[in-house]
Amino acid sequence: MSDLIHKSAAELAQLINSKQVSSVEVTSAFFDRSEKLNHKTFSYLHLNRENALAAAKLADQALAAGKVHSPLHGVPIAVKDVLVTKDAPTTAGSKILEGWMPQYDATVVVKLREAGLPILGKTNMDEFAMGSSTEYSAYGPSRNPWDLQRIPGGSGGGSSSAVAGRLAPLAIGSDTGGSIRYPAAVTGSVGTKPTYGAVSRYGVIALASSLDQIGPVTNTVLDAALLQDVISGHDAKDSTSLPNSLGSMAEAVRNADFKGLRVGVVKQLSSDGFQAGVSERFQDTISKLTANGVEIVEVDCPSFEYSVAAYYLILPAEASSNLAKYDSVRFGMRILPEGNPTIERVMAATREAGFGPEVKRRIILGTYALSSGYYDAYYGSAQKVRTLIQQDLAKAFAKVDVLLTPTAPTTAFKIGEKVNDPLAMYLNDIATIPANLAGIPGISVPNGLAKEDGLPSGVQILAPAMQDAQAYRVAALIENLYKAEWGDYLISQAPDLEALNV
Ligand code: GLN
Repeated sequence: MSDLIHKSAAELAQLINSKQVSSVEVTSAFFDRSEKLNHKTFSYLHLNRENALAAAKLADQALAAGKVHSPLHGVPIAVKDVLVTKDAPTTAGSKILEGWMPQYDATVVVKLREAGLPILGKTNMDEFAMGSSTEYSAYGPSRNPWDLQRIPGGSGGGSSSAVAGRLAPLAIGSDTGGSIRYPAAVTGSVGTKPTYGAVSRYGVIALASSLDQIGPVTNTVLDAALLQDVISGHDAKDSTSLPNSLGSMAEAVRNADFKGLRVGVVKQLSSDGFQAGVSERFQDTISKLTANGVEIVEVDCPSFEYSVAAYYLILPAEASSNLAKYDSVRFGMRILPEGNPTIERVMAATREAGFGPEVKRRIILGTYALSSGYYDAYYGSAQKVRTLIQQDLAKAFAKVDVLLTPTAPTTAFKIGEKVNDPLAMYLNDIATIPANLAGIPGISVPNGLAKEDGLPSGVQILAPAMQDAQAYRVAALIENLYKAEWGDYLISQAPDLEALNV
């Protein structure tokens, strides 16, 4: 059954549906592998065989009774530890929540359970989703299955390394500034940030509420589309949830054609500052599209130059407020300092011990940006830049259907290389941040291996808000263009994890 771990989720669903294999067999195959290899990639913070197998058994029983709950019925999945789960501890990668057992399931988790997807475990992440490498996880970094000395991206590096290392056929991530798309790019997986509000945030531990979105991390574009169809939809428990369905992404993938497609290349995100091999891969994708009759148009988005700066004011401002609830009183860690433990001293001692340096840095930055004397100069200006970015995008989308950029400026860097240089770390998200500031959908699709290091590179597709189907269409077309080179998905080219040593 070891070949099961090499199949896409759509293939596994088909095998389960036609009863050639059971959900219990598939779930066990991924579980055995995860238990054996998780120490190499450290993808999971928490694995729970009993719960996963119980859910797989239920999926098999439903199938025997003629009930198929979704097109991914019976396929197991890994969930980023930023979503609350009532049957597993939830930490968001932080010591302050170590051992916390939530009393309810996030809406996305409820949807996964109802759709018949057994949950394998909770994946590692940078603390409170702040970071690009998982090196800011309080529990230690995850590792990239292509090279265990390198980062798997962040903040959702647990999810991306689980998929790329074949420890899960599917995973859920969260994307506030790129934490689904960036890890997908550097591990050769597919990652989608849906339109803001397309997927419920109820039960998602908030980082920056106006930017956070939940989405899929997978091997193939069809798998991502199938998973987005399962998790999206209106949720009365989330006031920012979109009222209407955005249609079927799987259908958009299956019906994808080049007809009339116009693609924009953003002047500010096409050459400068990108690793040579990443730029070369990007040009290769553009050439392939041109060869298929796609019209390529250069578009100008001058305010993108300020997107990282604006993001790193808006995000800390919102995060400083969202993280105020970790006060030692309601849940999580409580430290009693020596001497007179007044409430202020207990809170201060707990937050001092419970939060890591990056979280503290952002709380201080955000509190400062929101303070009365500086609010207009910092937070106010950042919000104005946000509007300008939205205007640049609106102008661009008047000319083209989608925009294309490299997803990440470089391939996966080495563990330790940027961890002490926050600014260098922030710049990894230069191409992904505009989508969060504008609330639009973005998908990262693998587009090959960079010449100089043989590591995966990704191309990002951006579409107008609520046109996720258009982004999936183009993602599917690009994936198809590369099938002749590496088969169904790039991850199949990754080294054998069993043979690699940490
Ligand atoms: N790397 C970005 C940050 O540190 C993105 C985080 C995210 O998308 N959760 O904020």
